Amino acid sequence: MKSLRNLNQCSGCGRGGELYETCALQDLCLLIDLHHMKIHRKQGTVGIFGTGDFGRSLGLRLLQAGYEVVFGSRDPKNSALVPKGSKVMTHTGAAQMAQVIFIAVQRDYYDFLTSLTPALEGKVLVDISNNLKRGQFPQSNAEYLSSLVPGASVVKGFNTVSAWALQSGALDASRQVLVCGDDPKAKQAVVDIAHSLGLSAQDRGSLGAAGELEDIPLQLFPNWRLPLWVATGLNAFVLLYLLVHDVTYSYVEKGQDNFYRIMISLPNKAFPIVSLTMLALCYLPSILAAILQLHNGTKYKRFPDWLGRWMLCRKQLGLVALALASLHVLFTFVKPIRYYFLHREDTGVIEQIKENITEPFDNTEAWRSDAYKSLGVLGFAMFLLLGITSLPSVSNALNWREFRIVQSKLGHLTLVLCTAHALLYGWDKFLQPDRYHWSTPPAYMLSLVLPCAVLVLKFIFLTPCIGRRVTRIRRGRERPGKSRSEHATVPMDKATSL
Ligand code: NAP
Repeated sequence: MKSLRNLNQCSGCGRGGELYETCALQDLCLLIDLHHMKIHRKQGTVGIFGTGDFGRSLGLRLLQAGYEVVFGSRDPKNSALVPKGSKVMTHTGAAQMAQVIFIAVQRDYYDFLTSLTPALEGKVLVDISNNLKRGQFPQSNAEYLSSLVPGASVVKGFNTVSAWALQSGALDASRQVLVCGDDPKAKQAVVDIAHSLGLSAQDRGSLGAAGELEDIPLQLFPNWRLPLWVATGLNAFVLLYLLVHDVTYSYVEKGQDNFYRIMISLPNKAFPIVSLTMLALCYLPSILAAILQLHNGTKYKRFPDWLGRWMLCRKQLGLVALALASLHVLFTFVKPIRYYFLHREDTGVIEQIKENITEPFDNTEAWRSDAYKSLGVLGFAMFLLLGITSLPSVSNALNWREFRIVQSKLGHLTLVLCTAHALLYGWDKFLQPDRYHWSTPPAYMLSLVLPCAVLVLKFIFLTPCIGRRVTRIRRGRERPGKSRSEHATVPMDKATSL
């Protein structure tokens, strides 16, 4: 910005003797300057080899940002679809006009570049290519390009942005350009272009990292895989357990056909059990981390890989648990309109009228029922709040301390409320022998094992004698004789706070 004006003046408003940093009208100046750039500033010339989907979308955005765009094509005369205002010529012609050239051609056809080696000498070539599967080629595409044109500086980048996102305005996830390359100046040129297109750029190191960048677009929900597997496995196990314990038992032992319960009753029992277990799984790793830190006497020791992976997917574990809790709420709402429920209510009332029986009001049962439902509602509300605060738009508005309080304190409160909800639902059922079918306990007891264990351990860690020791270790204190040889895989604050 300052290069446009005398450096002794503010780059925005031009006030003599004022640098932009010291000018009292900073914000206004910046606006004036951006306006100035938009109208007058012509950026440099950028070359694009290939007039396909990506090349054309990128060309359009570059033109909008004020660059001159020159396409290199096999058939310049038949390139009618290129954006208006750009030029199309042969590859050699385009290479002579631009310093930075995007190679918007599939890797399979890179061979033609060897014949252009003299024209590409000293140029910056941006490799934007992706592969169809991981490890498709022994060498990354960018390194292969570099070996074909050794006189050029190859930068990997823009491969994580889609042609569609470039044209239609990028979503958050595709607004980030990751770049890597061996020549810092070449990398900076590509980063500058990304910034002027309104994209954010991140330097990922040398060209050796290109293979990693090429794998990124092939990933499918990487952090969701483990939570989804856990949810599927637990749901399958609990549903099977319920099928045997609740339905098959009644059929075999009492001759009652209750298999219709498979549709609503069983999922409505399985989902909250799995949801509560998964919520406890969100808070268990930080306790395991604290146990490890106490055992090691230092926080500067690497956690086992499985614990690191577990910690990194806690948000997703919590969100899947929230989805299951929401399903539990929906299934509970349809309960009063179920045929089974209506029939049981009607026949029950008719039986009582026929036999002239009045069921006395059970005050204890009324308390239990209201308390259990109230805790369920409160627990679900807290759970929703937790889910909302994990949204990037909300969590970005919180500072680290606020985020920690919400995710840790509110999270544990949610766990307490939901566990109490399950405890009150079961009430004294665990004392009734007829509830143990084929010597197996009622399913709700399964949901209590992990949450109760987590809450008890958490309580132990809150006691001053243990809590203080953990805090000291997390503030960097090391037990004598412990070395800081290795560092943790997950940032400590993040890993242990929840
Ligand atoms: P495309 O639509 O198939 O276009 C590729 C272009 O390459 C063609 O239009 C053609 O341009 C040129 N070409 C084709 N065969 C050639 C050959 N034998 N020799 C020289 N040039 C040849 O592909 P695209 O979707 O634009 O993708 C281009 C590159 O961008 C790929 O490496 C892809 O992995 C990467 N990419 C694409 C996207 C996306 O959203 N599409 C996103 C990220 C990365 P001329 O006819 O003008 O020569």
